Amino acid sequence: MKYLKNEPLRKHTSFKIGGPADYFCVVTDLDELREALAFSKDKKLKVFILGAGSNLLIADHGLRGLVIKVAFSWIKQENKIIRVGAGVPLTKLLKHLTERELTGLEFLAGVPGSIGGAVVMNAGAWDENISRYVQAVLVVDQKGREKILNNKQLGFRYRKSKLQSGKLVVVEVVLKLLPGKKTKIKEKIKANLALRRAKQPLDKPSCGSVFKNPRGKHAGYLIEQAGLRGLRVGDAEVSKKHGNFILNLGKAKASDVMKLIARIKKTVKVKLEPEVKILQ
Ligand SMILES: Cc1cc2nc3c(=O)[nH]c(=O)nc-3n(C[C@H](O)[C@H](O)[C@H](O)COP(=O)(O)OP(=O)(O)OC[C@H]3O[C@@H](n4cnc5c(N)ncnc54)[C@H](O)[C@@H]3O)c2cc1C
Repeated sequence: MKYLKNEPLRKHTSFKIGGPADYFCVVTDLDELREALAFSKDKKLKVFILGAGSNLLIADHGLRGLVIKVAFSWIKQENKIIRVGAGVPLTKLLKHLTERELTGLEFLAGVPGSIGGAVVMNAGAWDENISRYVQAVLVVDQKGREKILNNKQLGFRYRKSKLQSGKLVVVEVVLKLLPGKKTKIKEKIKANLALRRAKQPLDKPSCGSVFKNPRGKHAGYLIEQAGLRGLRVGDAEVSKKHGNFILNLGKAKASDVMKLIARIKKTVKVKLEPEVKILQ
């Protein structure tokens, strides 16, 4: 397997921000993952697991150790139970489910993550979360040992799961979906994509929502009410279209985004907690 040295992580994040990883590799099956974990152990490297990189703000000085990008790409089906390799993009999964007339995950249309990252983050939209459809997850620990965790053991909450401890690698997600009609599924996906296009600034790199919504409130609305729309540090800007998005207008640095985050937290009266994973 190839281990790249000093790989710029901005090439692997939706924000197009992030300095170099000491070592970087892509794993496409369990054997490669075990090999990468053994490599990290041998060289005493810290490990970071990367999915599609769509919920990350990585520091300008990058990450020390080994970054393992999970690219497991299988989708297997047994009746209504689907087993999905953790690296499968949600878009590809939704296409598969539409063809097989399985409904449930249409709310994720337009979320640019992998299924592994979506489960770790308990991704959701329009009052739905992926946790409802996850039956179990196959994980591997740092020693390469496999384990199956059921829905309860994953400790799902709003944009949270126990997998965020970073100690386990998600290999496969077992989903339970419902039978549906292809035309209806397609309609729902189309409507959700249209809603996103109308509300979100999708023409510039970002990490999606920067902050979690505080209970009963919308972070975007609070940020807009505080008059922070359009606030800019370097090439990082609070979107004029949606207050909870920070955009990379070109050469934004992680430090620019961090300054905006600090400014927003200081100005908005309600306590805001980042949804984006900040790695510095
Ligand atoms: C334009 C845009 C819109 C978005 N809209 C939404 C939305 O509506 N709802 C929503 O919830 N999110 C949204 N997001 C955020 C993001 O897409 C989701 O959080 C997504 O689920 C992250 O998946 P990922 O594969 O990109 O994970 P990454 O960003 O790569 O990683 C996120 C976390 O998961 C861990 N991780 C990833 N894969 C694995 C694995 N296989 N094993 C162990 N750990 C792993 C990482 O270590 C990290 O801690 C949006 C982002 C963008 C850019």
